[in-house]
This record gives sequence, C-alpha cells and structure tokens, in this order.
Amino acid sequence: MINTQILNDILKKSEAIRASAKTPLAVFDLDGTLFHYNKRVRNILMDAMKDKDDQFPGARTLIENIPESEYEYLVLDTLKKYDINTPGLQEYIYNFWERWFFDNKYLKYDKPVPGSVVFVNKLADEGIKVIYLTGRDVPRMGKGTEEALIQNGFPMQPEKAVLMLKPKYEDDNWEHKNSSIKAIKELGEVVAAFDNEPGEVNILADNFPDAVVGLIISLHSPNAPEPRDSVLRLHDFTDNQDER
Ligand SMILES: [Mg+2]
Repeated sequence: MINTQILNDILKKSEAIRASAKTPLAVFDLDGTLFHYNKRVRNILMDAMKDKDDQFPGARTLIENIPESEYEYLVLDTLKKYDINTPGLQEYIYNFWERWFFDNKYLKYDKPVPGSVVFVNKLADEGIKVIYLTGRDVPRMGKGTEEALIQNGFPMQPEKAVLMLKPKYEDDNWEHKNSSIKAIKELGEVVAAFDNEPGEVNILADNFPDAVVGLIISLHSPNAPEPRDSVLRLHDFTDNQDER
C-alpha cells in the first residue's frame, strides 16, 4: 500500500493552491528517489568483467558474489568492502563504470522504488504537475530516461509531467538543480518534493518551506549534511516504513 497519510497531506495542500488559481507541483529526483539503480550497477560490473578472466584472475567471481544490497555509493568502495584489489582492477572498473553508468544503455535495469509509480500517478491524476528534476543529462541519458519512465508507468504526458535534465553531461549537478528551482517557481507552487541526497533535500526544504519535503533513504554521496528537521525520512513511498 502506498503512503496515504503523506499523499493526503499533499492533496490537501494542492487544493489550497488550486483555490488560488495556481498550478500545484510535485518535484521528484530520479536516481535513488524514484529508481533504485543497483541492477544497473550489477549489469555494468558483469559486462566489465566479461572476457577479463586472464587479465584479472578470479575477480569476476568475487564481484559476481557481492549482493546488490551491499553496494556502496562509490563503486570502488564496494570493491574495497570485499577486499577485491587485483592490480589494475580498480582503475579499469572505475573507468568502465563511469563510461556506462551515465548512459542510456543500462537504464532499463533500474527498478522503481516501492510505491513510487502509484504514488506519482495519484498526484498527477489529481491535477498536480509532476516535475522530474535530475542530474541526468540530455545527450547521454535523455532517451533512456524517457523510455524508463514510460515503461515503468510513470506519468510522462506533457500536460501531466515535465522532465528537467542537465543540458550537458559536464554541467554541475547542484548548479543545475538550483537554476531549475527558479524555473519551477515560475511554473506554479510546489506542494511536495523528494530527493535521496540530504544536501539537495535541504535546498528543496529551504526553497519550498510550505511543501511536504521528503528524503528517500537510499545510497547518497559521502559527507552529506544532516537533513533539516522539517524533512520527512522515508524508505520508499509505501506505508511500511519499518527499519530495514
Ligand atoms: Mg538522486
């Protein structure tokens, strides 16, 4: 079951916004917020190790045996955690991962966070415009992102949703999110915003103090700040938020 308490909270806020003839908006990050990407990493790692048994003896099996639930945010931290340190392997894996993690090719392996598809559709069906605000970029990840959203059943019709990608791969993520926030403020009034990065969730909380702002607890970058007190902490979009 989806989290109806949070959903109803958001819907109540959106009614008030609509009464003032403005458009209610809900902002969602993608990686680690609407999608878990462990399977993307798994497939990248397995493809990286294909035909590499001579170069890195034994490493493929070791990597294959790492449970996806044990993956760290940084791929090299995952290898370190399992003491996999065949000479030259770390550099090779990092380069392969960096080449393909930010690419259309493996996005089909991403899995929607539990409850997210139903939750986002409920908001869209109630006339809340959905904004996907992501650090993914247009040239390398645009097509795969659109396909993944549609194939997993997230709203993508132009009247229901807007996808805000970085124009270029090289663009800074934080700068992109900050400048997008300005654009979002011109589209309407934010009633809900979710992200898995504590730093970014704080930016959302500061910019949209009247919105329901939630941190999805999943992998995030190291040395992240504490989320603000007002931020909800959730494992996913279901009503089952027991520690796991
Ligand atoms: Mg994220």
